Amino acid sequence: MKFIPAGEIIGEAHQVRSVKIAKSPQLPDGEYRFIDTYCSDPECDCRKTMIQVMHKGKLVSVINYGWEPASFYQKWMGSSAKDEAKMHGASIDITSQNHVSSDGILALFNVLLNDIWVAKFKQHYKEVKAAGK
Ligand SMILES: [Zn+2]
Repeated sequence: MKFIPAGEIIGEAHQVRSVKIAKSPQLPDGEYRFIDTYCSDPECDCRKTMIQVMHKGKLVSVINYGWEPASFYQKWMGSSAKDEAKMHGASIDITSQNHVSSDGILALFNVLLNDIWVAKFKQHYKEVKAAGK
């Protein structure tokens, strides 16, 4: 699976979500940018995004987020797979360098997560897949 940033497909119309925080008990102050990336294989039905979290121009964390219910990933991966539960909802990717607290980043992501953002993930996923055809 190759993941590419939605912005590379959508262009300037793509807005990267960003938030400024201060005095968090877990995370350094400043702006955090969430760059949503998607698997570009049109044959693959993974329905997830890998989000690169940038802070001060540096990649500090990578979040996996799957918007479908756990049962979808169970079916998709087959019943022998043990990782399906991890694909549903938000989790820190195993490749993440974790330059900041992973608990802090997950908590921040979950606070920001809303229907509008999830709808954007789904739309961007479609657009990236369509571009791969
Ligand atoms: Zn995929």
